[in-house]
Amino acid sequence: MTMRAVVYRGPDDLRLETLPVPEIRAGELLVKVAVCGVCPTDLKKIHYGTVPPPRVFGHETSGTIAKVGAGLRGFRVGERVALHHHVPCLRCHYCRHKAFAQCAGYKRTGITAGFEPAGGGYAEYVRVMPFVLPGVVKIPAGNSFIEGAMLEPVNTVLKAVKRLRLLRGDSVLVAGQGPIGLMFTKILSLRGIHVAATDLLESRLKLALEWGARKAFQASSKRLVDEIRASFPCLDAAVIAVPSEAAVTQAVELVRGSGQVLLFAHTRKGEPGAVDFGSVCLEEKDLIGSYSSDFTLQEEVSRLVFSRRLDARKLVTHALPLEQTATAVAIASQPATVSAKADSLKVVVDQTFRGSEAAKSMRISA
Ligand SMILES: [Zn+2]
Ligand SMILES: [Zn+2]
Repeated sequence: MTMRAVVYRGPDDLRLETLPVPEIRAGELLVKVAVCGVCPTDLKKIHYGTVPPPRVFGHETSGTIAKVGAGLRGFRVGERVALHHHVPCLRCHYCRHKAFAQCAGYKRTGITAGFEPAGGGYAEYVRVMPFVLPGVVKIPAGNSFIEGAMLEPVNTVLKAVKRLRLLRGDSVLVAGQGPIGLMFTKILSLRGIHVAATDLLESRLKLALEWGARKAFQASSKRLVDEIRASFPCLDAAVIAVPSEAAVTQAVELVRGSGQVLLFAHTRKGEPGAVDFGSVCLEEKDLIGSYSSDFTLQEEVSRLVFSRRLDARKLVTHALPLEQTATAVAIASQPATVSAKADSLKVVVDQTFRGSEAAKSMRISA
């Protein structure tokens, strides 16, 4: 049996190819992919060629179980599931310190459509290996594959929020209101936190207010720091959801003594930056980072998304069929300012579209 898959053949080179449907072994699952989110970490690998080809990327995956390996209990053919490509061992030094993203087991990718395992969501079928089965979540009847695919990005945001020491009524700056920033704004405001949002795009500032921000500020303003301070004299923390050095510097200045500045978007190693060490030492401000997801939060994340307290569907602005994966990647990579007509938030590859429906699917919300 063969299937269609979008294979990474080198920097900015994605090709629609025919591959064998992955063979599964005892204790594994074969899943027919329905939806796969386009994630910024994949974009980086595709544009900069940070990992050797060939690979099939895509790790924010939902689909239907097509085959259950011998001896595996608890799963049935036809069940709709969301997949989790990284699951920590829960036993090593890092796991005991809850630093799951540093666990060697966690770093192994357990889902593949062929070649070196890399998620495989940009293919018709994926093989799910035993060590990531604890991360499989069943999608309730009333929820969509898109919501299933959004569990992973929501998880990364909730994990980061839990790294902040916050009390109800505290104030937090969220710099950047792309899909990730908006999820921070929503999750923080659901927890009774007052959010100050910044972005360069007016459309996103408007969205930030709809997603729960108290106030939204134009990030290009020369008086940004003063403007934020006038409305939020005591910021308890700042989340930097945009890869900007200035945003970090401003945030370190803006948070109150003992405040925390959390870096979420600085995902390239070797990035230089200046921080006032005095504010870390004398004012006890923490500079912290958060990367990837926390497997132990999966149930809480599922409740948040499937109850629609965080309506992840609203973040998806573009859904494209599998053969247009390269276009999906291009749309997701483009800063919204470039595609002047319409801002893109979350872009997904959706294989549930057929024929003429696919053409209509380009933009699914205004
Ligand atoms: Zn992701
Ligand atoms: Zn571990």
